[in-house]
Amino acid sequence: PEAFLSVRDLRVRFSTEDGVVKAVDGLSFDVERGKTLGIVGESGSGKSVTNLAVLGLHNPQSSSVTGEILLDGKNLIAASEKEMERIRGNRAAMIFQDPLTALSPYYTVGRQLAEPFRKHTGASRKEAKARAIEMLTKVGIPQPALRFDDYPHQFSGGMRQRAMIAMSLMCNPDLLIADEPTTALDVTVQAQILDLLKDLQQEFGSAIIFITHDLGVIANMADDLLVMYAGRAVERGTVREVLQQPKHPYTWGLLSSMPRLGGDINEALMPIPGSPPSLLNPPSGCPFHPRCAFTEKVDGERCSGERPLLAEGRAAACHLTPEQKRTIFIDDIKPR
Ligand code: SF4
Ligand code: MG
Repeated sequence: PEAFLSVRDLRVRFSTEDGVVKAVDGLSFDVERGKTLGIVGESGSGKSVTNLAVLGLHNPQSSSVTGEILLDGKNLIAASEKEMERIRGNRAAMIFQDPLTALSPYYTVGRQLAEPFRKHTGASRKEAKARAIEMLTKVGIPQPALRFDDYPHQFSGGMRQRAMIAMSLMCNPDLLIADEPTTALDVTVQAQILDLLKDLQQEFGSAIIFITHDLGVIANMADDLLVMYAGRAVERGTVREVLQQPKHPYTWGLLSSMPRLGGDINEALMPIPGSPPSLLNPPSGCPFHPRCAFTEKVDGERCSGERPLLAEGRAAACHLTPEQKRTIFIDDIKPR
């Protein structure tokens, strides 16, 4: 099937006083309607930057974005700010880790749901209020008609997160980007909100991009998985393929450092030695080579000299042979 969102060779660069940061360096992926793409990687791997760029939320003054971002066939890279605003209102929405990024303290929750909806759809005040109450009901806010007039600080953390999800769903977005949407919440509320997202996806058929460093959450939520390292995709496949038969040494490191699948990459018991590279001066060749334990299995100096590319479909960007990619993790590394 035709991908609803198709990103090709995305590059995001920031100018800083010290030079140009290649935050995203040639990234391609697809998301289909009704499907969830998980994106995992350590902090600073480019996950969040990628998705801000998709929605045109990067700062155009300090960053440049090139490549193709096709949303339902339309290239968003070429879209004007005005068009992007319309797309963000009607077709694509973002759920942030911190609801206070999206909710203003100065207006009631209800107004913040209803006003953008009126602006984008031309609905009447009454229709917009009814819609807002309907969405607050859907996300499980008790007594939504009463809570409509509350300010965000009158909501608990979990309720604010729900309210933000309600806000992002007001216009039935075809694409929903959730960036660590439950990281700040306790486990029970987190589970409720993840269930809610799944239900809403069933109902609306949205495509979802789910960014997280929690592999347990990914296993639950995503259909497909993209593993990012140093601004690039290093492995891609279905969630099952990648978690059960990972093919890239970086993914091996992520999975073997977890005490079990529920783990958080940033708090792994046995983290991968070294730290993510500077994107100001990324390593030559394979960006993972300074931390990789398998460079000696690859002939010559290829790991430090030649950038491995990510093929289409199920793939890992690594110079190891297909046989090595298939067997090393299963035979030697897999936690038991
Ligand atoms: Fe490791 Fe070389 Fe593969 Fe990079 S290309 S992941 S350095 S083995
Ligand atoms: Mg982030």
